Amino acid sequence: MNLLQIGGLAPWSSIDYPGAMSAVVFCQGCPWRCLYCHNPHLLPRKAASTIELTDVLHFLQRRRGLLDAVVFSGGEPTLQTGLPDALMAVRDMGFRTGLHTAGIYPERLRAVLPLLDWVGLDIKAPFERYASITGVADSGWAVRDSLQYLLDSKVAYELRTTVHAASLSAEDLVLLDVQLLRMGARPVVLQKCRPQGQAANLPYGAEETFRQQDGAEQDGTRLVGKLGMKGKM
Ligand code: SF4
Repeated sequence: MNLLQIGGLAPWSSIDYPGAMSAVVFCQGCPWRCLYCHNPHLLPRKAASTIELTDVLHFLQRRRGLLDAVVFSGGEPTLQTGLPDALMAVRDMGFRTGLHTAGIYPERLRAVLPLLDWVGLDIKAPFERYASITGVADSGWAVRDSLQYLLDSKVAYELRTTVHAASLSAEDLVLLDVQLLRMGARPVVLQKCRPQGQAANLPYGAEETFRQQDGAEQDGTRLVGKLGMKGKM
């Protein structure tokens, strides 16, 4: 078994897998440096594991019948070659499997989709605007490919967008919604940026962010035609 480098474990969560009680495994490492990343301690690839996968599996063994699902989050879980084996192991134990991903590695995501029951895919911005958030040139196109694979797979999913006034305007959100509509994807669920991690260094505080995004839908409805503007085509 290829082992997973793990940066943390949340033993109980009611919010990380829709409608299910889950444990969350935080995978170590991410190649991006998003300006609002909440988990900067998970970004270095080489940090020591705080908990071994075998210990996670022993914990899960004791939680059979109490937990419904196991979610792999990060960091970026698809960075690690150990992810498929870990997904198979928790599925063999009878848990549903979930993945939080930024869609950085489309081919790796495609490879694990048959092992997943649900995917939460971060959509950070209109695809051509990704570099302003991730710090990596042209990083959005890989995410578009990941989304296409996800849509083709028929695996249940949610698209989530973190909103901060320093990173996305209302116009950006409408343009993004147009791009998703054209791909046949559901609208994003908007998440307010929390002022922690790297987000603490952003130029606006949380209240200013919320005020500037006032009127943005947060329940996963289409934004086209809302927010008092039309999307640029
Ligand atoms: S992709 Fe996710 S984990 Fe990686 S830097 Fe961005 S917010 Fe952080």
